[in-house]
Amino acid sequence: MSDEVNPFESLQEQIDDAAAYLDVDDDVIHRLKYPERVLETNLSVDMDDGSIQRFKAFRSEFNGDRGPYKGGIRYHPGVTRDEVKALSGWMVYKCAVVDIPYGGGKGGIVIDPSEHSANEIENITRSFAEELRPFIGEDKDVPAPDVNTGQREMNWIKDTYETLENTTEPGVVTGKSLEAGGSEGRVEATGRSTAITAREAFDYLGKDIVGADVAVQGYGNAGWIATKLIDELGANIVAVSDSSGAVHDPSGLDPVDVKEFKRDTGSVSGYEDTEALTNEELLTMDVDLLVPAALENAIDGDLAEDVSADVIVEAANGPLTPDADDVLTEKDVHVFPDILANAGGVTVSYFEWVQNRQRFYWDEERVNEELEAVITEAFDDLTDAYASFDLPNFRTAAYVVAIQRVVDAFTDNGNWP
Ligand code: NAD
Repeated sequence: MSDEVNPFESLQEQIDDAAAYLDVDDDVIHRLKYPERVLETNLSVDMDDGSIQRFKAFRSEFNGDRGPYKGGIRYHPGVTRDEVKALSGWMVYKCAVVDIPYGGGKGGIVIDPSEHSANEIENITRSFAEELRPFIGEDKDVPAPDVNTGQREMNWIKDTYETLENTTEPGVVTGKSLEAGGSEGRVEATGRSTAITAREAFDYLGKDIVGADVAVQGYGNAGWIATKLIDELGANIVAVSDSSGAVHDPSGLDPVDVKEFKRDTGSVSGYEDTEALTNEELLTMDVDLLVPAALENAIDGDLAEDVSADVIVEAANGPLTPDADDVLTEKDVHVFPDILANAGGVTVSYFEWVQNRQRFYWDEERVNEELEAVITEAFDDLTDAYASFDLPNFRTAAYVVAIQRVVDAFTDNGNWP
């Protein structure tokens, strides 16, 4: 993993690469490369031992031309202002590429959640929700889960907001538990869009996914569901990893069994009858499909030289640096980008928000059918742009589609002087 690449600069480079193919004024493109506003705050929170600790937290609202700011909240010691800005920008283009009526936002707290009790995490989350209160709302900015946050944190944010506002507004956050107004299918949605993208990609490239060898980096929410569903498509999962390391079995791993092992032991490492690999070894394995599903900058330009996969489908946000993209384009490795391949999460968040607003709830079958339609349609838009603009890779194609949609919304709205 490269620590030197600033994800915000990566985002800006990706926008420039795609904008070069579009007939859009530089002034408009410039506007699309910076957030509209960023909240930076220091939360002061009571700890279980009676002390008070401070936590730096951010919320970036990148662009609202197509609808309310939308994006997750991450709890991680490595959160930085620039990372949050980059992630909020990727949300703008992700929502645009799948054509749902949202802008982009993202938040984060600099924290190692494993060092805190559930009570402390609740206090920290409610304190952040209080800071966010003037900015969020179902028509303003709608947070969701990201790394190390989930239904529990979203329920606390909703409850804090609703209590302080003296209202009921479940659509203020998405990714809630079903009982708190969540949607069926939300937990699986990100990995599901990765699996749909992998299936469509293999079909488009004339490759057979049945029997294809697959390696997955990161066995968290996005990674494990993607692994399970890609396995169900008939592929052969030969390696998976988490932050403790990677395990390899050329005859194929059982994703559900690996997940149970991880639940019992805390990691995939040591899973029976497997060879231990480093994460770098996993990323450079000779497989048909590589799925990075951990964090950003997992593959930089140097590591990309050694990547041997034929196809990469990005479940994580920003797992390849721009240098890696250049190397992989040169090597004819087909990369299907994050803003499509993990857009299932935000798409089902959108379905959750629609259901919250209508107070009318869908069953899982309907959610999965609607998700299938959104992702396959976006895949077709992306491959149409790839062919008709004669673009160098599928990431540029995704940005061409997405930037044009944001520019159209901005142009139709008109500029406020
Ligand atoms: P998670 O915390 O559930 O899982 C992350 C996994 O990556 C963990 O298993 C962790 O051990 C592993 N990991 C961390 N560093 C690693 C390393 N260096 N090598 C190998 N494994 C490593 O998080 P998640 O929700 O699954 O998110 C993963 C990625 O997917 C992030 O980039 C996130 O932004 C993106 N994403 C998630 C969602 C969602 O709905 N969960 C939606 C869109 C995008």
